[in-house]
Amino acid sequence: MCYDCLLTSHVPANAISLARKALKSLLKDTEKELKKSYKQHQLSGFVAYTDKNSDHTGETHSRSTYGRSLPTFSGRGMILGSSSGGASSSHGSSRDHRREETEDDRENQCPICLGEIQNIKTLEKCQHSFCEDCITRALQVKKACPMCGRFYGQLVGNQPENGRMLVSKDSGLLLPGYEKYGTIIIQYVFPPGIQGTEHPNPGVRYPGTTRVAYLPDCPEGNKVLALFRKAFDQRLTFTIGTSMTTGRPNVITWNDIHHKTNCTGGPQLFGYPDPTYLLRVQEELRAKGITSD
Ligand SMILES: [Zn+2]
Ligand SMILES: [Zn+2]
Repeated sequence: MCYDCLLTSHVPANAISLARKALKSLLKDTEKELKKSYKQHQLSGFVAYTDKNSDHTGETHSRSTYGRSLPTFSGRGMILGSSSGGASSSHGSSRDHRREETEDDRENQCPICLGEIQNIKTLEKCQHSFCEDCITRALQVKKACPMCGRFYGQLVGNQPENGRMLVSKDSGLLLPGYEKYGTIIIQYVFPPGIQGTEHPNPGVRYPGTTRVAYLPDCPEGNKVLALFRKAFDQRLTFTIGTSMTTGRPNVITWNDIHHKTNCTGGPQLFGYPDPTYLLRVQEELRAKGITSD
């Protein structure tokens, strides 16, 4: 009777997974037994699997044989071998089955716990897969894929919730360096309020504020505008703290996503021309997890 066929064709998938687990633990036990019996030179049915050269004279050599050959054992092969000594020779297809399962195991291996994936969870952007428990714990520590580092998670800031971002366009206003295009004008408006538990001084008042920023109305500028919108919606554009320019505490301040608050004057005056600004600000946005995908 063939246990391989019994397991793969007549038992439902979840039962196979349970059976696999049982067989894997059995494999561990059997491995221990195997090592014992190897030492005592009492191998019988296993020799066919472990070593084709069958030249294990010294202790060292036997050990290295284990290292190479054990991973290619399948749980099913082991149970056949251990339950009936000569099963391996009468089971012609066992080698193919073993190869299949080895590839299978690699695909089903969780990169975090290195075990077989339990409750598979696949990250949507990079398609890397893990056990649900493993990836949940990993994402709590760092909001990125442990395999490729891709950013996951919606970083939410503490920008006051009742602000507004208003956008208008002026085709007659030309920014130095982008004279072929008009200008996108962004207005941020915040009413005064009281700091919440997510702010440095809960219960303390902060004044309202308005800010204006400019982007060229070119394709790259509109890309940055969409990212600014995302950042604002995730409450990342502003925070509450001490003003860098006035030293005044408990005010709404910029939060490391630089905006051009002047049309002209160059970088020193937070204006244009500044040929690398659109690239730099996209890096700043990326650092906060704001990307176009
Ligand atoms: Zn895992
Ligand atoms: Zn990934």
